[in-house]
Amino acid sequence: KLHNQVQELKGNIRVFCRVRPSLNNEPASHLAAMQYPDESEDAKEINIMGPEEKSSLGTVSRKNNNFSFDRVFGPRTQNGEVFDEISQLVQSALDGYNVCIFCYGQTGSGKTHTMSSQDGMIPRAVHQIYETAQGLEEKGWRYTMAGNFVEVYNENLNDLLGNPDELDKKKHEIRHDMQRGKTIITDITTVQLDSPEMVESILKNADANRSVAATKANERSSRSHSVFILKLIGENHITGERSEGTLNLVDLAGSERLSHSGATGERLKETQNINRSLSSLGDVIAALGQGKDGGHIPYRNSKLTYLLQFSLGGNSKTLMFVMASPLQAHMSETLTSLKFATKVH
Ligand code: ADP
Ligand code: MG
Repeated sequence: KLHNQVQELKGNIRVFCRVRPSLNNEPASHLAAMQYPDESEDAKEINIMGPEEKSSLGTVSRKNNNFSFDRVFGPRTQNGEVFDEISQLVQSALDGYNVCIFCYGQTGSGKTHTMSSQDGMIPRAVHQIYETAQGLEEKGWRYTMAGNFVEVYNENLNDLLGNPDELDKKKHEIRHDMQRGKTIITDITTVQLDSPEMVESILKNADANRSVAATKANERSSRSHSVFILKLIGENHITGERSEGTLNLVDLAGSERLSHSGATGERLKETQNINRSLSSLGDVIAALGQGKDGGHIPYRNSKLTYLLQFSLGGNSKTLMFVMASPLQAHMSETLTSLKFATKVH
């Protein structure tokens, strides 16, 4: 029995890797030596070749860094194809599961493109949930969909749908109802998603909200975690069944190792907070993957893991996207990201 439970937990944590294409201003000569099977295949491996090294005997060799994940997407993959691979997982939130999907990687590796752009997983997930919910109406199901969009910046929780003037001023607390497994954020704006099109304005609103902050919007978003929370409550007026699921879509802060030397004041604090919360997230997922659920899971070590406590572990489902840049100049960070993702796997 116990063995099965452990197996099940492991099955509930998956890691996908996505390599972005080179952009127009990035010459092919700057690409790293990377290998992954062709797009059409069900690729699971990625290999990054180190620099050529000459031995004392004069032979030339390259170190191979081989990683395997549940899925590897090459640079030609479109967001639509990526979504196809997660649509079942998204669907399970309608069946009452708590689902977390994360994008992890250094700044510029494609997290926002994948998750929170107008073409990304957030709008696609909302559209699909809508369609499915409509299909379930004839079976008696009625769903309400309530959305929050929050940001964790410097270990403070901010409301990305609230009044921009209050972004860094209003304090929000996280309260857990342990008995019912519910999380409440105080004073937070909740949007009822009455139509799937609303998600576009939610994303715009969040961007606008951030750009009012003192730090430039794109800088700020690379140093904060954004969490789109969709609560799905279903009631079946024929059978009397109820279901309550949550979908959390998380665009994480950039994972690059910002050098501590040189950073002072605010910047140093930011850096420390990012490092701490990303490593806490890794610790929590790794602990869950080792079947420690029920034992001590260090949710309280960061705001992000505390916020997501009821959506990480238990019968919840977790997917981590680890994003990779194709550039040689980014290879050291890419290797660090892939190692992180391997550890949580
Ligand atoms: P991050 O959020 O990790 O900092 P972005 O998502 O902003 O990175 O991506 C950096 C740049 O690369 C952006 O200009 C983005 O449009 C582009 N980009 C990222 N991934 C892809 C992709 N799969 N296809 C095309 N362009 C991409
Ligand atoms: Mg981003």
